[in-house]
Amino acid sequence: MARAEGAYLGVALGDALGATVEFMTPREIAHEYGVHRELKGGGWLRLKPGRVTDDTTMSLALGEAIIKDQGEVRPLSCARAFDAWMRAKPVDIGNTVRRNLIAFRRSGDPEAASSEHDAGNGAAMRVLPVALATFGRPEDAVRACVRAQAHVTHHNAMSDAACEFLALAVQDFLRGKSLREVFLQRIQPLVKAYPAFEFRHRPRRENPSGWIVETIQAVLQAVVDVGGFENCLVDVVNRGGDSDTTGAIAGMLCGALYGVEALPPRWLKTLDPAVREACIGQARGLLGASVSA
Ligand code: MG
Ligand code: MG
Repeated sequence: MARAEGAYLGVALGDALGATVEFMTPREIAHEYGVHRELKGGGWLRLKPGRVTDDTTMSLALGEAIIKDQGEVRPLSCARAFDAWMRAKPVDIGNTVRRNLIAFRRSGDPEAASSEHDAGNGAAMRVLPVALATFGRPEDAVRACVRAQAHVTHHNAMSDAACEFLALAVQDFLRGKSLREVFLQRIQPLVKAYPAFEFRHRPRRENPSGWIVETIQAVLQAVVDVGGFENCLVDVVNRGGDSDTTGAIAGMLCGALYGVEALPPRWLKTLDPAVREACIGQARGLLGASVSA
């Protein structure tokens, strides 16, 4: 449970930390903040300190739908939850998410058309509730549920590979596997199957875009090469680019790896209290659903 809560709060903390410097370059960040390591809000969205963006709020919308469906991941429920989320005018929304939710309104079909262009990180950033709800199920079933939620907005092979990897890696950490084990059993096989994700023999990935490949490269460079929850998140968001999303995904992995005790208390104190409570409540609810499934 401590790891599940760590993962969910990790998404929110990484999102809130990264949102301040989203779309900035590392140079601009260094000039303005030195090393950016506090939840101070601001950024292009002019957020209050501790506020989160779509990465967290879409996760929460999805988690609520899964809890209502007693741990099942039903595409129609997911699509309706995202559509309701969009109608509530979120602070930010990705282009692919918006386009495919509008298509859903027209067609009623919760599965987006497959597209080689929809390789953004928008499905990966919100995958955590599925990882928690399907914990303990066979790997094929986990993968199918991951794709069911992802395809509502992102129907793309690279996005799928990343989403499945993230959910299974989170579950490995929930079981207490070490970073070394997950590196050998999940990360290396991912890179072998999809060499585009190669991150070790590449220069430091700065300004990672919303393309899932650059997102995963930056996140894995930070998670594998920088130890500890806070240091990893600080490293990845100071690379700039889509930093709220790299922060959220790194937070998901590191929260599951290091557990809730590793989260900086000063960050938790600043985090939007309603979001903090929702993350903790859903982590428990989703994991509860997985045990009874
Ligand atoms: Mg965002
Ligand atoms: Mg973003």
